[in-house]
Amino acid sequence: MKEFFQKILNMILPPKCLCCGKIIRDENGFCADCFQKINFITAPYCARCGLPFENAPQGNKLLCTDCLKDKKPLFRMCRSAVKYDDFFKKNILAFKFMDKTQNAVVFAKILKLAGKDIFEKGADVLMPVPLHFKRLVTRRYNQSALMAKELARLTGLSVDTFSLVKIKPTKPQIRYSGRARVKNVKDAFSVADVSRVKGKRIVLIDDVMTTGSTLKECAKALHKAGAKSVDCITVARVYR
Ligand SMILES: [Zn+2]
Ligand SMILES: [Zn+2]
Repeated sequence: MKEFFQKILNMILPPKCLCCGKIIRDENGFCADCFQKINFITAPYCARCGLPFENAPQGNKLLCTDCLKDKKPLFRMCRSAVKYDDFFKKNILAFKFMDKTQNAVVFAKILKLAGKDIFEKGADVLMPVPLHFKRLVTRRYNQSALMAKELARLTGLSVDTFSLVKIKPTKPQIRYSGRARVKNVKDAFSVADVSRVKGKRIVLIDDVMTTGSTLKECAKALHKAGAKSVDCITVARVYR
């Protein structure tokens, strides 16, 4: 039945490429030309943080130098679908600042593929990185929450958009680099309902991972509340 409605809907509102706006036949979100230009992250990558390796044997559970040094990792696994380059930046920005909520459906499909290792290992609940309520009012929606809700439908996992809260308004991370980013988001997150976090395997959902400062602060708050494990999946990741 759902497919039937989807077909009707596609006739009235044909799906368009998220990059160039060209009408496309299927719902993958991108036309073939744009799809070609996206840098998807593929193996080999660090088994923990997901950082792609340039030269490493495939299939091995290798860790990058930072993860080897980190004896108390905040994350069980981090995964991202695509490299955040100039081409992809355009799409993410459109998603964030225009009402392109339908992008959430496409990005959720991408997140599901990127999070394969995490879902195989087992997870309990998806949690979007929250916005401070002041930001939510001006932007009207939290893009990560939209994606998490779609991903919950695709994976059958539950989604919790209430337990993790942003208690401190922060300046956009894009204005800072390195240590200033860490400082900007320090102690910005808290868990409102500990009972919904304790003992749970939580998967954080966000659009872009840059230095990981925001995601790490979220993970700290979740561990403090007794989370069993924290993973994260982002659509894109910044790396050289
Ligand atoms: Zn296109
Ligand atoms: Zn790593």
